[in-house]
Amino acid sequence: MLHARSGALEPGDPVPEPLVMTSAFALSEQPAPDRSYGRMATPTVSAVEARLALLEDAPCLLFPSGMGAYGALMMAALKTGDRVLLLSDGYYAARALTETVLAPFGITMQTCAAHDIATAPLDGIAMVIVETPSNPGLDVIDIAALAERCHAVGARLVVDNTVCTPLLQQPLDLGADAVIVSDTKAMGGHSDLLMGHVASRDAGLMERLHATRSLAGAIPGPFEAWLLLRGLETLDLRLARMCENARAALPILSASDKVSDVIYPAPHPQTSDQGFLVGATFADAPTADRFLEMAGFAPTTSFGGLHSSGDRRARWGDAVPAGFLRLSFGTEPTDRLMADLARALDRA
Ligand SMILES: *Cc1c(COP(=O)(O)O)cnc(C)c1O
Repeated sequence: MLHARSGALEPGDPVPEPLVMTSAFALSEQPAPDRSYGRMATPTVSAVEARLALLEDAPCLLFPSGMGAYGALMMAALKTGDRVLLLSDGYYAARALTETVLAPFGITMQTCAAHDIATAPLDGIAMVIVETPSNPGLDVIDIAALAERCHAVGARLVVDNTVCTPLLQQPLDLGADAVIVSDTKAMGGHSDLLMGHVASRDAGLMERLHATRSLAGAIPGPFEAWLLLRGLETLDLRLARMCENARAALPILSASDKVSDVIYPAPHPQTSDQGFLVGATFADAPTADRFLEMAGFAPTTSFGGLHSSGDRRARWGDAVPAGFLRLSFGTEPTDRLMADLARALDRA
């Protein structure tokens, strides 16, 4: 992926992917579809999609945010009368999008908790959208088993792979029909951009998705796509440190009398690592907030960035205790971070 620059590297060429800021192209008699007008494609966006396609082992389309990817995929794949199954403990905006934007088009929604999905009835469902591990509960869903059940009733399975990224989990290989990733999180990794993508080996679906993007107009600008590519080039290194830090913190959090419950995704053969997110329950909201401040964790609702951060999820209405924190471990040096964490636990 690192060496898959668009165009062969000739002597004198810059090594990084060039950033091409353009909306217009000099046209030939038969303009190439990716060199006609910026709303269809631009060289930098196409170059980032090509790198993502290597990570996903499938064609990819880029959107200006993770929700942009959700909206376009649902518009492209669903029709009036379709019913969608979403996780009740999944990303809130996915349910809100379905209920507020898609409902007037005759698309209905059903919800189910991640830990019940293995036995949820799927009759009459056109599309199932899940996250695994779920967020913030960190329940693991068996993708291959769910894909089989979906396909038996003619439903498409879409996996939101934001938490694992394609480096830790490959839902398409396990039978999912499409993958959505919010590249705003670990993929970009620097908390300085919004982006999202869809990957699928269903050529018809990708063609319709491209038409949806071109006509509805939600294509990212070249600069932010280029920033994402810059982040992707260190994804492997960042994830390794982030997961190492999360694992190092588990025994420290578990041993503390300030933390009543620690959650971390169960190991599963479908993921190569259990990730960088950890749930920790403190006595109450003020204790949790004090801990974040003393540990130097950024109090953000996003996750997956270089900087360790935490979010008190009850603030957003999640069904968790008031003192529950979703901690996202960053890339700080492990020894130093664990020392800060232990001191903050003592004093919080
Ligand atoms: C953040 C997030 C989204 C939405 O992505 P945006 O880039 O914020 O639009 C979707 N799913 C999950 C799991 C997320 O964490």
